[in-house]
Amino acid sequence: MIYLDNAATTRTAPEVVEAMLPFYTENYGNPSAVYSLGSAGKKAVNEARRTIAAAIGASQEEIYFTAGGTEADNWALKAAAESCRTKGRHIITTKIEHHAILHTCQYLEEKGYEVTYLDVDREGMVKVDKLKAAIRPDTILISVMAANNEIGTLEPVEEIGAIAREKGILFHTDAVQALGQIPLDVEALKVDMLSASAHKLNGPKGVGMLYIRGRTELLPLIHGGAQERRRRAGTENVPGIVGFGAAVRRAMERMEEKAEKERVLRDYLIKRIEEEIPCCRLNGHRERRLPGNVNFSFRFVEGEALVLTLGLKGICASSGSACTSGETDPSHVLRAIGLDDEEAGGSLRMTLSEENTREEIETAADRLKETVQKLREMNYRYKAFLKEMGKSDQ
Ligand code: PLP
Repeated sequence: MIYLDNAATTRTAPEVVEAMLPFYTENYGNPSAVYSLGSAGKKAVNEARRTIAAAIGASQEEIYFTAGGTEADNWALKAAAESCRTKGRHIITTKIEHHAILHTCQYLEEKGYEVTYLDVDREGMVKVDKLKAAIRPDTILISVMAANNEIGTLEPVEEIGAIAREKGILFHTDAVQALGQIPLDVEALKVDMLSASAHKLNGPKGVGMLYIRGRTELLPLIHGGAQERRRRAGTENVPGIVGFGAAVRRAMERMEEKAEKERVLRDYLIKRIEEEIPCCRLNGHRERRLPGNVNFSFRFVEGEALVLTLGLKGICASSGSACTSGETDPSHVLRAIGLDDEEAGGSLRMTLSEENTREEIETAADRLKETVQKLREMNYRYKAFLKEMGKSDQ
């Protein structure tokens, strides 16, 4: 099996699992308990908090653990909207956000908020001047992702942060795909809130965090006990949080080396596809993109058929984002970058990790080439296209 779906999720690193295990078997006490079985958990949670805070240039009191990226995104948007509703009811986001943001924005629209969904260019970049122009006196929140999960484009978060700060507008970034992949510093980015998730960086599933800048007034999303400084109630997922901390420490130690390895493999795969498979288009920005992201559209091919056939050949990839697969609508991200139905429907995302080898990528390129060719041979529009071009597929 060749796993090329690391944007969907990653393999939990063995050292992460090892760090988590004692908190199931030995130190299983409730961190709120006063005896040592509980305080061991509390200590470990706080150590993870310190590690994660240091990784993004925050202080430990600014890190709030959640049950993943979706929860952090929901919290940031719903709570910011509610907390600022006397100041205004206008929110700015983009058309290429994850559904955790977009569906939350739709919910807020039903509650009487107004949302501007910014266009992006052909490469998936948010245009800062358009964002500036969208700001109104009643704008209370801007949410722009750090890196796109489908096409890998890195957004100009730092520039946007500077604008939001100058205007006194809360700024949130969904950094679920960015943490551990590219450097993130909440001071340099001038973000007030940042979401992240452990399972995208070789940590466990179902645990994430929301960074909330020092004095930001933000209501809790979940009410109950006093955990997470009364802002996110519920007994802490101690093993998950410990695993998240271990995963962040591991990712920070190897970030440059890992990114370089992935970039080399990514660029090799892109080159092979562009040289060997006709009628294809690289989606996303060529340079400003996540180190492991390869996203192509192939004309005369159905993305779903491509993914299924590659799956039968032992290659795990996705068409559109994993969270939307099962839905038949073309990806909203590919639509937003201006692809037509055919281009959007014929897309394939392959997201690499440092664990992939050159041989695996060579095999993946070979299998992809033969699969695209096979599927095209069954496509009547491809046959018509060849005829028109004066070629035969025989
Ligand atoms: N935001 C982005 C950009 C993502 O890619 C994902 C997951 O794919 C999420 C949010 C949701 O994170 P989680 O799976 O931890 O809920």
